[in-house]
Amino acid sequence: MSLVSVDSLTIDDIYKLFSLTDNKRVVKLNKRIANVFFQPSLRTRTSFELAADLVGCKSTNIFEKESALDKGETIYDTLLTLSLSHDIIVLRSGEDCTNFTNFNIINAGDCKEHPTQALIDLYTILKHVYNPHVLIVGDIVHARTATSLIKLLHKFNIPFRLFFTQDLTDPRKGELFRSYYLDAVKTNTGIKASWGYNNYNIIYLLRNQVENHSGFDSSIDYINFNSIVSLVKKDTMVMHPFPRGRELSQVFDSDHRALYIKQMKYAVPVRAAILESLLNE
Ligand code: ASP
Repeated sequence: MSLVSVDSLTIDDIYKLFSLTDNKRVVKLNKRIANVFFQPSLRTRTSFELAADLVGCKSTNIFEKESALDKGETIYDTLLTLSLSHDIIVLRSGEDCTNFTNFNIINAGDCKEHPTQALIDLYTILKHVYNPHVLIVGDIVHARTATSLIKLLHKFNIPFRLFFTQDLTDPRKGELFRSYYLDAVKTNTGIKASWGYNNYNIIYLLRNQVENHSGFDSSIDYINFNSIVSLVKKDTMVMHPFPRGRELSQVFDSDHRALYIKQMKYAVPVRAAILESLLNE
């Protein structure tokens, strides 16, 4: 009963999860969840806590400062300890979650993927956009959310294209990306209408993941949100996993295309469904 990568989920599993999300009944699982967050998180952490409440579970929150990592304890030993008194561990860290699959674990963002965020994104897309065509724009290579989302879009046969605002500099991720993106668009010259923005009814924006790489060229990283908005169709929805940077103005929040507000709201019910389905296994 773990969720480390979206790779382990079938289309059927995901539809079951989404129907559980829609099915708002009272659930009392009486299990214990450890939320272990060794990297900053606002939305993921609070939504897991609230989701645990929704399914009648108790949660323990562990942050880096309160852990024994400073004393040299490993993440593995931290998880080993917590696994003895908790039914599942929600883990956010920079380490590869596949190192910890002997525990019951939910990947809340590691060095590769962010499966629960991508499930929220897919749920939002399927609920609100008919015949979705997705354009992902930003620092795709260094964004774990993008890795998981692209895998899900691929699994569901949802057309997508990519606009990279940084080069494919990470060879490990480059490989992964090449196998998933047959029609990737890569440029560093700015946003142009000739790239076919009109073919997409969802634009998924990503901030620059400054903490995830070095050698960042800020001259090519700026996405001018006003220029994107003026180019897209009037009904093109805008998504973003947050936190946002300069690529998404808060002036847009009241626009009917600001789908990212709903995307944020679905974090609790989708994560509650994930907890329920894993804890019932
Ligand atoms: N909140 C997401 C993550 O933890 C997206 C981001 O940080 O840009 O990966």
